[in-house]
Amino acid sequence: MVKRIKLRKDFPCPACANQRISSDWTCTDGEPLYLNELGVVECQSGKHSGKVINQTWKCESSYHNGQYQKADLEGFTFALSQAVQLMSEAGPEWVANLVTEVGNQYGK
Ligand SMILES: [Zn+2]
Ligand SMILES: [Zn+2]
Repeated sequence: MVKRIKLRKDFPCPACANQRISSDWTCTDGEPLYLNELGVVECQSGKHSGKVINQTWKCESSYHNGQYQKADLEGFTFALSQAVQLMSEAGPEWVANLVTEVGNQYGK
């Protein structure tokens, strides 16, 4: 069964891997974003949904220059590793599955 976990403030921006800036992760409609173990990011209603590799991110960092940016595998893996609450809520199997799926998306 697919389990989705809400992206909270402790999930750093995967695009710039900036830990110091925390964001409320929402879609363009302002709905909270969720991540599932198949490597899919979707908003509450599921209206916006896509693979991690296609997902764009924007935080307050000047790195973005106001633009949404895609994350590379390293950035995403780093962000995941920093999101302690997400990891503990999801459990090790979920995390392992997610890492495999996202690795496949990036062809690694
Ligand atoms: Zn949405
Ligand atoms: Zn960022």
